[in-house]
Amino acid sequence: MNNTPIITITLKKGREKPVKNKHPWIFSGAIHKRDGDPEQGGLVRIVDFKQNFLATAYYNRISQIRCRILSWDNHEIIDEVFWKSRIQSAIEHRQQLHFSSQTNAYRLINGESDFLPGLIVDQYGDYLVMQCLTTGIDVRKEQISKILAELCHPNGIIERSDAYARKREGLPKTTGILYGKAPPDSFTIIENGVKFGVDLLNGQKTGFYLDQRENRTAVSQPHLVEGKNILNVFSYTGGFGLFAIKNGAKKITNIDSSIEALEQAETNVALNGWERSEDEYLAGDAFEILRYFRDQNEQFDMIILDPPKFAKSQKDIDGACRGYKDLNWLAFRLLEPGGLLATFSCSGLISQDLFQKVLFGAAVDAQRQVQIVQQFNHAPDHPTAITVPESAYLKGFLLRVI
Ligand code: SAH
Repeated sequence: MNNTPIITITLKKGREKPVKNKHPWIFSGAIHKRDGDPEQGGLVRIVDFKQNFLATAYYNRISQIRCRILSWDNHEIIDEVFWKSRIQSAIEHRQQLHFSSQTNAYRLINGESDFLPGLIVDQYGDYLVMQCLTTGIDVRKEQISKILAELCHPNGIIERSDAYARKREGLPKTTGILYGKAPPDSFTIIENGVKFGVDLLNGQKTGFYLDQRENRTAVSQPHLVEGKNILNVFSYTGGFGLFAIKNGAKKITNIDSSIEALEQAETNVALNGWERSEDEYLAGDAFEILRYFRDQNEQFDMIILDPPKFAKSQKDIDGACRGYKDLNWLAFRLLEPGGLLATFSCSGLISQDLFQKVLFGAAVDAQRQVQIVQQFNHAPDHPTAITVPESAYLKGFLLRVI
């Protein structure tokens, strides 16, 4: 792959503004012309209508996001040194966060927000998991994994390029070992003192929902969970429930559609040396199980709702809001007076403000008085570039229901 762009892309008049504001995406509709046919993932020069240099980007002719910008500096060469210094800078940010020795899993590179569009790297102990979300990264994955190996000395780098976003780039799903060894079968991580078994090759996302780390701790403070009967909806491998057990919860009822996730959740309890006969693990559709609980007049002291992404594109927004409203309405109905609801949305297309409005609608319909106690976002190892606000996807509220 060439280090210097040969092809120039001219933007339509007036479409240079977002680029000048350091937004890294150029949509197909903003392009006036190109003076050749760039390779897939190859470098291009972006110029305005008057041919003034704006940026250097990589190109994809299939994606609606035709170009993703790597540099706004006319003199910056996109070579080995460039990739290494960007990766190094992302790693330094994580070092500044000073994770305790009780946490060994975190996001090392967060794509656009670490000025490395399309590249996600998560660290799990001695292993790295890399996600190539775009062609521009996919064609450079050997080079990037070599740099990661040099800088981080992992036992292995696992590729989990099986995210839905790859479809839009015209890329197939790919998983495997990019460097070093495969992780052992019973691989475990530690998060704020709690152990979790993680399947780096087949688990959801890159194996674990690292973005909820701080929220798992915040929601499970002893004064909130001690002696409580807690419903952990969309539990995955136990997440919020395990922290609640650690801090004295009486009973956890976990719901997830994935049987493997629930089995791992139960294994995780034993992994931490806890003996629990009171907890429940229910496999199935959360909406159906919550309706069943409502019909049975079940009541809980605390409910956690951490559903998967409901809105994948603009056209899904209305349906997603109805889904969130239904779910939260059911939760409001299932809470004891004074009960707590920790509710999340990881749909980037639904803003915190819109999510709050949906919760307001659900509270009114459920005829419950509701107070906002706390608000949540993703963990600080998932920074958001201020010029790319849409990459802030996770939002949540701790609500008290009267
Ligand atoms: N709270 C978890 C992460 C949840 S991710 C943690 O802290 O680790 C969302 C989870 O929802 C996934 O485990 C997925 O298997 C589950 N899921 C998706 N659709 C579902 C449905 N309709 N009913 C129940 N669970 C569902």
